[in-house]
Amino acid sequence: MDFKSLQENLRHRLVLWYRQHRRDLPWRNTRDPYAIWVSEVMLQQTQVATVIPYYENFLQKFPTLRHLAEAPEEQVLAAWAGLGYYRRARLLQAGAQQVLKLWQGKIPEGREQLKSLPGIGDYTAGALASIAFGHPEPLVDGNVMRVFSRLFALRGHPKSPLLFQEVWRRAQNLVPDKSPGDFNQALMELGATVCRPRVPACERCPVREFCEAWRQGAPESYPEAAPPPKQLRLDRVVAVVQRGENILLVKRKNPRWFQGMWELPHSYCDPGAAEASLLQGFLSEALGLSLTAVRALPPTRHGITHHRITSYAWQGQARGKIRLGGAFEEGGFFPSDRLSNLALAAFDRKVLAAGGLFS
Ligand code: SF4
Repeated sequence: MDFKSLQENLRHRLVLWYRQHRRDLPWRNTRDPYAIWVSEVMLQQTQVATVIPYYENFLQKFPTLRHLAEAPEEQVLAAWAGLGYYRRARLLQAGAQQVLKLWQGKIPEGREQLKSLPGIGDYTAGALASIAFGHPEPLVDGNVMRVFSRLFALRGHPKSPLLFQEVWRRAQNLVPDKSPGDFNQALMELGATVCRPRVPACERCPVREFCEAWRQGAPESYPEAAPPPKQLRLDRVVAVVQRGENILLVKRKNPRWFQGMWELPHSYCDPGAAEASLLQGFLSEALGLSLTAVRALPPTRHGITHHRITSYAWQGQARGKIRLGGAFEEGGFFPSDRLSNLALAAFDRKVLAAGGLFS
C-alpha cells in the first residue's frame, strides 16, 4: 500500500470507529461554536465527568455569547467555582466580549482570527475551526500527543519541544478535508478511552495495524516519562471569622491566584509554623479584628498546579470593626447558605466544609 492510501485508510478507520463508539457527551450534540468553545475551555486540565454538570449549568446561566459577555464577572466566576483555574473563565469572558465588539457577536472561523482572541491558543483554535466550523485544521492535546507518539514510535517526553513540533507536523499532514472535526475528536477519543496512558487496550484499537509501538510490543514505553515537576509545599493559617452565623469573606488587592474572587482571610506561613497566634496577629494587622471563642478546624489539603497547600483554620467570633484598605479591598459577612452562589475558591470551600459550614 502506498503512503497516501495508508493515510486514507488510517483516517477512514479512525472516523468510522469514532462514529460507532464515541461517548455521548453534551457538547457533541451541538454545532453552536459558543457552546463548543465553553466545553473546550472547561476541558483544559479537567476531567470529562467533572466538566459535564458545570458545562450544563454554565450554558443555562449564560445561554449565548452575548449573555456571557454582558454578565458581571462575579457571576461568571461563581458559575466556574469548583472547576479551578479561574483564569480560564476570565479569559473566556474576555474572548466573548471581544467577539461582541470586533466581530458583531459572530465567532470568527479562521485559525489566526481565533487565536487573536483572549485565551485561545493553538489547541482551542484547532478545535473550534475543525469541530464547530468544519475547517481542516489540526489540534494536539495530551491524548493526541500520546496516540501519535505510539502510532509513529516517536521518541521524547510530552513536554519536549521537539516531540511537540513533530506531533503537530504529523497532525497537520493527517487532518482530512472531509469531516476534520470527527477526525480530530476520534484521535482524542481514542487516547481517552483506548490508547490510555498506562494500559492501552490495543486489542480494541481500530488502528492497531498501523501502530509502530504495538508492532514493537511496547506501547506503554511511548511517550517517555517527563521529569517530575518540583512540588512546593505551602502552609497557610485561615480565619473563619463569624458574626453570629455569618462568615467573613474578603477580596484581596492584586492576588497571586483567584483574581476577583472571595476568600477566607488567610496568610501563608513557613511549613510547620501554623499557629493560632500567628493568625490573630495577621487578623489584627490586616483587618483590625480579633477572634473570640476560637476553635481549631481539621486541616485540609489542596493542590494547585505544583503547589501542595495545607490550610490550618480557626473558627471564632469577630471582635472589632473591619478595617479594609491594606491587603484587602472588599469584605463582608455572608450567611452560609449564600456561599454556594459566590465565587469562592475550592480550598476555602474545603476549609468551610471541614468546619461543617459548607456542603
Ligand atoms: Fe495505542 Fe495500542 Fe492503538 Fe497503538 S495499537 S494506537 S498503542 S491503543
